[in-house]
Amino acid sequence: MSELNHITHWIGGKPWSGQAGSGEAGRQGDVYNPATGQVTGRVDFATQAEVDAAVAAASEAFQDWGRISLSKRTTIMFAFRELVRQHSAEIAALITAEHGKVASDAAGEVARGLEVVEFACGIPHLLKGGFSENVSTGVDSYSIRQPVGVVAGITPFNFPAMVPMWMFPVAIACGNTFILKPSEKDPSASLLIARLWAEAGLPDGVFNVVHGDKTAVDALLTHPGIGAVSFVGSTPIARYVYETGTSHGKRVQALGGAKNHMIVLPDADLDLAADAAVSAGFGSAGERCMAISALVAVDPIGDELIARISERTRRLAIGPGADPRSEMGPLVTGPHRDKVASYLESGVAQGATLVEDGRSHLVTGLDGAAEPVEACAADGFWLGPSVLDNVTPGNSAYTDEIFGPVLSVVRVPTYEAAVKLVNDSPYGNGVAIFTNDGGAARRFVSQVEVGMVGVNVPIPVPMAYYSFGGWKGSLFGDTHVRGMEGGHVYTRGKVVTSRWLDPSHGGVNLGFPVNQ
Ligand code: NAD
Repeated sequence: MSELNHITHWIGGKPWSGQAGSGEAGRQGDVYNPATGQVTGRVDFATQAEVDAAVAAASEAFQDWGRISLSKRTTIMFAFRELVRQHSAEIAALITAEHGKVASDAAGEVARGLEVVEFACGIPHLLKGGFSENVSTGVDSYSIRQPVGVVAGITPFNFPAMVPMWMFPVAIACGNTFILKPSEKDPSASLLIARLWAEAGLPDGVFNVVHGDKTAVDALLTHPGIGAVSFVGSTPIARYVYETGTSHGKRVQALGGAKNHMIVLPDADLDLAADAAVSAGFGSAGERCMAISALVAVDPIGDELIARISERTRRLAIGPGADPRSEMGPLVTGPHRDKVASYLESGVAQGATLVEDGRSHLVTGLDGAAEPVEACAADGFWLGPSVLDNVTPGNSAYTDEIFGPVLSVVRVPTYEAAVKLVNDSPYGNGVAIFTNDGGAARRFVSQVEVGMVGVNVPIPVPMAYYSFGGWKGSLFGDTHVRGMEGGHVYTRGKVVTSRWLDPSHGGVNLGFPVNQ
């Protein structure tokens, strides 16, 4: 086996030079190549002392960065944007190597993250305040927005570059300093990004990375030096992060898990709907928070729609992400693959029909294998795309966020039943409706209790200048990430009322200030 990568923290503008994996008995985690199942690296898990060092570096850097001019900040943002563009393929390759997603998908992730950097280049416009002249005689008022201080971002495995990029470009452009705690499953992209920040001229300590698990997260959530926390991950951890962070006096936005529905009305174009269901259900092996995992077929089109989906599913090319022929890669870890696969058996035991079984889907292009191998027999964390039909709302394949390539089909008799199903879900991240009836689509947009809605668009991820976030169990806190709401979460408002000495100065007045 080739030598393992050692992945460590980035604190104060350089790789952490403290003893590698020191502290609590040198705790580290394994990083895998999901396409082979082999360990390729070891990542250090931060201790409280290492988090303290990152907060100290970020606090010191904030003294200058919070005051530096907007034009200097944006000059660095533009330089960073250029470097990310130049190194996109390298970032994408790191993502594929540790997450497993196919190269085109990883490149798309970097491109969508870059949109947020570009949005943050225009931060001076977002930070403009208001000014009212003469609110009282000789008195003016104006509002300003100032950075919060040190901000932490805690991110999931499924978008190791894009989700951090939802947070730090806006936070840093607003004048904060930032500590990223990326997923321990695919930590390397964050370190390349840290190097690009340094090359762009960002002062040391403005962007830091600490790796780790619950120990690092808890140290961030309870640290008195941190003013705000952005989190993206599963719902139970999002709730925990929100409750712990807010009880320690921090602003917290915590985006949670999802169970996204795609409703197909009887008048829809079934070829378009089938293409969309397969793309949105199985892209990135279903490991997207905006993946479609529940397909809601409104009578009577169920049989016809499933036939078209099955036919497309069988043709999907499954293989290593680095192989340009592959349309879908492996899952992120062995335990996650096993958990996802378990829903095929338990779903059937609870009354569903297994229409496509991803365990027997062939995997092509594996190292050392001349012929395609069945997913269940291949080395690596493989599971092909699966379709479960006749899934009822009580089935765990419907109630749980599976987060893998399993499309559950629920059949309902009417549009009203479809909307009720979606609105009864404890999640509210994304949803899509497929129809040619503009009136029905418009009614749906108004009635559905979900944060991001697609009309004949299966993955309605908004552009960077709109905020991103769900409702209900998909979000804890009041603000969505990036866009205008990102600017708000990372700044505090201040309103100034000023009077300069003038002949109209009226002397002592103990009354409450009223406008005159
Ligand atoms: P996760 O909740 O397991 O982990 C997210 C982060 O929390 C990681 O950095 C992890 O190290 C940390 N963490 C894990 N367990 C913890 C604990 N007990 N205490 C403190 N910190 C802990 O999520 P994941 O498996 O990495 O990512 C997949 C999940 O993220 C899915 O549920 C998916 O829907 C969700 N997600 C949501 C969005 C969104 O925008 N709503 C976007 C992407 C992913």
